[in-house]
Amino acid sequence: MRNPDYKVALIVPVYNEHETVETFVKTVNEKLAAEIEHIEIVFIDDGSSDNTVELIEKLQKNDKKISLIRLSRNFGKEAAMSAALDLVQSDAIVPIDVDLQDPPELVLEFIRIWRDEGIDTVYGVREDRSSDTNTKRVSSEGFYYVFNKMSGKVKIPSNVGDFRLIDRKIIDILKTLKERNRFMKALYAWPGFSSKGVGYTRPERVAGETKWNYWKLWNFALDGIFAFSSLPLKVWSYIGGFIGLLSLIYMTWNIFKTMIFGNPTAGYTTLICVILFLGAVQLISIGILGEYVGRLSQEVKGRPVYVAQSITGPLAKKIPQGISSTEVGIAYNSNENSVKKLTSKEEVKA
Ligand code: UDP
Ligand code: MG
Repeated sequence: MRNPDYKVALIVPVYNEHETVETFVKTVNEKLAAEIEHIEIVFIDDGSSDNTVELIEKLQKNDKKISLIRLSRNFGKEAAMSAALDLVQSDAIVPIDVDLQDPPELVLEFIRIWRDEGIDTVYGVREDRSSDTNTKRVSSEGFYYVFNKMSGKVKIPSNVGDFRLIDRKIIDILKTLKERNRFMKALYAWPGFSSKGVGYTRPERVAGETKWNYWKLWNFALDGIFAFSSLPLKVWSYIGGFIGLLSLIYMTWNIFKTMIFGNPTAGYTTLICVILFLGAVQLISIGILGEYVGRLSQEVKGRPVYVAQSITGPLAKKIPQGISSTEVGIAYNSNENSVKKLTSKEEVKA
């Protein structure tokens, strides 16, 4: 059974969210923290250029359960969440969007299932997606289908985002995964253990605008597929084999035709079609190689996934002072000394 003094941390990546942070904290306090006292809020500022940080610092003064991890620039949502997984120490964490598209009151149900039924991952399933456009719904359905067909043993349930409760045991396993290309949806599923879905209706954003466009989503989908499947790499031997077989049949047929009817030098159309078609096939296959080689080079370089420039709030007391560097990132706990230490280390390297 779970520790009776358990803490559940909401991890909230924020990037230019001055319009939503205050409403978020107010709603969490009214609908969640008023019901149970085990809640912490950890914001991860992903290099916002508006006054998001000032607003959070203001909220921190009156609310002792709010911590803030500030990344040193915009690293992206996946990196921001990796930072939180790495640094937050609570018994369970819940990645949640600040725009209230993930209803905070549902966390009560997550906690109940985790605490009373002993389930290790409780995830939210978007049952009604009428707030999303048709194109977004269809493309996301398509993505889940293709991903699950290609990914082998790691399956992600469809209509499930990052909104879920994850037990400490799984977080500790996730912390040992060293990869730089962090497609969190599938990484969450990778350790296994028991899981259960809870349905909900996804409302519209309370304020502000989505940070995703179709080009970003497309690249996000590619990240997922190339990180979890090597099928695109292997399929070319089959395509090559198939085309080879067709050419063999065509060649045999041409030899016989020439032997019987002679050669009137026709066939320009066939020739140009074959050349262009094979050219395209070769370019695509080189492109796919490029996708993997590009990602390999990122992994080999092994650069940290995130750099946290400061940590404030209750979390700061639980993390060692100064610089700490883990498998995936670098964080330093904001005090004068740690900043000095980092500068001197940088100077030595230079
Ligand atoms: N976000 C982030 N870094 C980014 C982009 C987004 O931390 O580079 C955060 C954003 O502040 C929000 C969450 O990720 O809390 C989800 O973003 P958004 O609502 O734009 O995505 P959607 O709900 O449309 O998928
Ligand atoms: Mg959103």
